[in-house]
Amino acid sequence: MQKVKELLNKYSANQKPFVFVKTYGCQQNVSDSERIKGIFISMGCILTNIKEKADVIVFNTCAIRENAEHRVFGNLGQLKNLKNRNPNLLIIVCGCMTEQEHIGEKIRSIFPFVEVIFGTNFIGNLKDFIFESLRKRSLNLKKSIAENYNNLKLRRDCLSEEIPRQRDNKITAFVPIMYGCDNFCTYCIVPYVRGREVSRSIESIKKEVENLVNLGYKEIILLGQNVNSYGKDLGSSFTEVLREVTKIDGDFWVRFMTSHPKNITKDMIDEIASNEKICKSLHLPFQSGCDKVLYDMNRKYTRKEYLAIIDYAKLKIPDILFTSDVIVGFPSEIYDDFKETLSLVKTVKFSSLFTFIYSKRKGTLAYNMKDNVSCEEKAKWFSELLKLQRSISASIYSSFVDRNLKVLVKESRNKKNFGFAKTNGDLVVNLENYKEEFKGKFCIAKIIGFKERVLRGIVTSF
Ligand code: SF4
Repeated sequence: MQKVKELLNKYSANQKPFVFVKTYGCQQNVSDSERIKGIFISMGCILTNIKEKADVIVFNTCAIRENAEHRVFGNLGQLKNLKNRNPNLLIIVCGCMTEQEHIGEKIRSIFPFVEVIFGTNFIGNLKDFIFESLRKRSLNLKKSIAENYNNLKLRRDCLSEEIPRQRDNKITAFVPIMYGCDNFCTYCIVPYVRGREVSRSIESIKKEVENLVNLGYKEIILLGQNVNSYGKDLGSSFTEVLREVTKIDGDFWVRFMTSHPKNITKDMIDEIASNEKICKSLHLPFQSGCDKVLYDMNRKYTRKEYLAIIDYAKLKIPDILFTSDVIVGFPSEIYDDFKETLSLVKTVKFSSLFTFIYSKRKGTLAYNMKDNVSCEEKAKWFSELLKLQRSISASIYSSFVDRNLKVLVKESRNKKNFGFAKTNGDLVVNLENYKEEFKGKFCIAKIIGFKERVLRGIVTSF
């Protein structure tokens, strides 16, 4: 550690090296970046939001969609000038993109000024990579590049609980409970870039949540690519995690993401229903309402099975709100298939939907499937779905007007006296009488209106 510090200081223009970390993509990446920032702080560095001021720049990348990759390449290109101005600048690229060999090669050949490249499972080795790279720089040798691997034992070692974490948010905390995915949905790159599922032990999860609650965190979000399959490798289950974590004393909410319909159990829904600390909202991606398309996507559940889970959840938790992910225009899909997606959306009535037009991802099975749907056709279907969802969201949001809801107040936005809160069902509320003292507290807000997917409210007691 001392040697890494010394080398970092040697190449720093500042007394203490400034580090700029840019995060692309999902909450899992946000969580990984918290660990990366924690490691730099433990080495005596200072975080900065100004990349021009930085001695070290880290891009933590996302591989889910092609446009995310294009953004990274564009932003990397812009670093060339900074590197020319400050040859000592250390540039690091990590995250899902770098787990794909062809991308690693591309970065190496187009952006030779990137000195360290490593994948998602290597955060624990960051100090070694920096040391190796700067040492080779001192000796004027070739730069270091980390190799990827997917060995379960080694990956479990990489889940070191010792890695420090720098959390920017003081109210909401993301707590990863597992890493990787075993599902291989045909359109998805995640299992290839994040590897197989590895679960953290319940003890370590509980310890982390306990610390967070003691520090005053009010919203704990348990993270995993498929939280419902937690513990397969440990002989445990996600329901057990929910039970254990909510035994911790304190006033806090627990949410989780993402759930997979094929692994969700009645047991888990019963736990959500009976446990006050677990929020009554469920993000359950269905992707398509048509069995043929679900089969081609390798989702391993049918429309009927999906709707049966929804019915059971509605029965046990009458005020539950659902959100979901949908892909429009999957290669084999025809308009009649898409109509089944529309009918599923009408049946379930999601409070909001994350909708995506299918786009090919190199390295996935669907990449080689014949795509029969033109871009214009996909765009038409997409608008139809958005129009339908807008009307469903409006009817759900309007049902909250004039009601008093318990909300968790997050932080003030730019406008004076304007704050932002979340309901138990995960709806956003803009508070029109926001005060700094509400921040981080559970309050009662009267809902006075809504605009698109945002409720308007006034705090009536806190
Ligand atoms: S469950 Fe499917 S969509 Fe989700 S991360 Fe795993 S492979 Fe990707």
